[in-house]
Amino acid sequence: MGNSVTVIGLGPMGRAMAGAYLDQGYRVTLWNRTAARAEDLVRRGAVLAPSPAEAVAANEVVVVSLTDHAALYAVLDGVAPAALAGRVLVNLSSDTPGRARETADWARERGAVQLTGGVLVPPSGIGAAGSSAFYSGPREVFEAHRSTLEVLTGTDYRGEDPGLAALFYQLNMVMFWTALSGHWQALALADAYGIKAADLLPYSVGALDMKRFLEFYAPRVDAGDHSGDVDRLAMGLASAEHVLHTVTDAGVDGALPAAVVDLFRRGVEAGHGQDSSSSLVEVLKRK
Ligand code: NDP
Repeated sequence: MGNSVTVIGLGPMGRAMAGAYLDQGYRVTLWNRTAARAEDLVRRGAVLAPSPAEAVAANEVVVVSLTDHAALYAVLDGVAPAALAGRVLVNLSSDTPGRARETADWARERGAVQLTGGVLVPPSGIGAAGSSAFYSGPREVFEAHRSTLEVLTGTDYRGEDPGLAALFYQLNMVMFWTALSGHWQALALADAYGIKAADLLPYSVGALDMKRFLEFYAPRVDAGDHSGDVDRLAMGLASAEHVLHTVTDAGVDGALPAAVVDLFRRGVEAGHGQDSSSSLVEVLKRK
């Protein structure tokens, strides 16, 4: 018989995933709202199902790679519960932890099981060594299908709660988007002085390599130790203001550095001026 899988959603990710399964000799059934996106994969041997229901019916493991969970409902809400019963929905459509829990309930009501996934690599990383994705949901279901999941990426199982994979994914995305936005800001400022992204590249790589800082601060933050022996938030505020003024002096949009100044100022006003900038964690925490 061999291995087989269904892939629903053929954006850049879903296409890479279906391709990885074909590479590994899986029989692959596909469905996508825009059928034309399946053409290359069908030429390579995949089968395009005429409806989501038939795609779901074709295999126990149904990999779902859609924009978000609203798209998942748009595609699968019309499928009869009987067709979904017994299926393992490997839901790699990113969304919030709350939505992941709702979709797990939605699946359970139909006799299906959701494994939530959060993929940490772009399409080029699918099927490539060293790539990784978070998973959560019932452990025995994860273990039973681990080898199928690992055709796509390495797996990092976070626990039974279906929200956990989404949570760890979003924790990554908080850092990713914020850091990347800082990089776009630097490139806009550099451009004002005729400096190209390629010229800045070695410095960009250096500035965003924060391993030493992260390793230094993690145990301190966990211990609630924000002592200002290495850096002080008052110094951080002055530095953030220099950044803002450098940006605005150059006529560049300053919304992002202004937000940083605002955050640092609130920290100082809360009495953390002589503490480390890590004390901002306390300022930001749920009150
Ligand atoms: P896309 O947003 O390009 O995927 C779109 C897929 O969702 C397409 O199949 C599209 O169908 C379908 N879709 C969207 N809305 C609907 C709807 N209302 N009804 C039916 N189908 C719908 O995303 P990617 O392929 O890039 O990514 C898929 C998931 O993986 C996303 O959740 C993304 O956040 C996540 N991810 C993406 C990464 C990347 O680098 N691309 C990296 C890590 C995670 P159609 O083809 O008809 O438009």
